[in-house]
Amino acid sequence: MDREHDQLTPATLAVALGRPERAPGAPVVEPVTFTSTYLAGGPVNYARVGNPTWTALEDVIGGLESGDALTFASGLAAIDAVLSLVPMGGRVVAPAHSYNGTTGLLTEMAGEGRLEVSAVDISDTAAVLAQLDGADLLYIESPTNPMMEVADLPALVREARARGIVTAVDNTFATPLLQTPLADGVDIVVHSATKYLSGHSDVLLGALVTAPTDPGRELHARLLTRRSLHGAIPGPMEAWIVLRGIRTLSVRLERACASAAELVDRLSAHPAVTRVRYPGLGAMIAVEVHGGADGADRVCAATSLWTHSTSLGGVESQLERRRAQPLEVETVPESLIRLSVGIEDVEDLWCDLAQALDQA
Ligand SMILES: *Cc1c(COP(=O)(O)O)cnc(C)c1O
Repeated sequence: MDREHDQLTPATLAVALGRPERAPGAPVVEPVTFTSTYLAGGPVNYARVGNPTWTALEDVIGGLESGDALTFASGLAAIDAVLSLVPMGGRVVAPAHSYNGTTGLLTEMAGEGRLEVSAVDISDTAAVLAQLDGADLLYIESPTNPMMEVADLPALVREARARGIVTAVDNTFATPLLQTPLADGVDIVVHSATKYLSGHSDVLLGALVTAPTDPGRELHARLLTRRSLHGAIPGPMEAWIVLRGIRTLSVRLERACASAAELVDRLSAHPAVTRVRYPGLGAMIAVEVHGGADGADRVCAATSLWTHSTSLGGVESQLERRRAQPLEVETVPESLIRLSVGIEDVEDLWCDLAQALDQA
């Protein structure tokens, strides 16, 4: 990011960054570069190490988070790279509730003796701090998927830094438009770009962002080495699809957040709903309904506009009973339905959801 870009707002950066250099006749959009290798003598010699289409996307994601981005084959590949930094037998403090692939990966690595996990309620700051001494990584997700718990990032990061513990925050739910963890001193930001950044439910891709500081650059170099040697790289076409999607991030999110706030009010007044979980930001909502797992299953089966599918962050509204997923942890209530609010008309969304809730 050059100096003039420092003055621009995130909505503008999402559109302006990652473009080819301005020259008469140059393309306006970064092309997809399909090549496995490069002519000798340049900065990158092989396409497992670098690709210009990744670089354009990394410029945008890095600019939005005010750091240096690396893209990966998926969100989980990016998370795996972060966990690979933990020394053999080291300890990770992580949320008891988080994306179920993250808890699944941590559980698997712990089962193999690769690392230890201290699972905490990430919204209970005192409980997290009680586990920090001697830890190697504080892994945070906020808001959490699907329980919508919110972590006190500045307080947790201050204490982790004082103990020399690396911090990572999964920022998938908030996006850099609503939360920039590097500004709180976090070392690594994690994204499943599969969700809001791409926004159209048609691609998988992940990203990590590190701070533009000396320790941040050192982490970036280690993570780049991991990516190059483990090979969990995005395809150039996938990077291009995310680059195209991220251009409209701010208008998509603005609409989705406004609709989510409206739906939260109406859901809270619906007789089938026993609890609404909404952290006050973003476009993700969790509701618990009467009738337990069966009631929630009936709701999910009864929508015609909302799509009954896993995943989130697309232009199309989606809903799902999370405990229907085999990996979901048992402390997530059986009747919890996760709602990802898209960009359809809010009255159409409510009409479909209200009649489905009547089936609970
Ligand atoms: C989906 C998701 C992931 C995993 O991302 P993939 O791109 O599916 O690998 C990680 N964290 C959160 C919060 C997610 O929602």
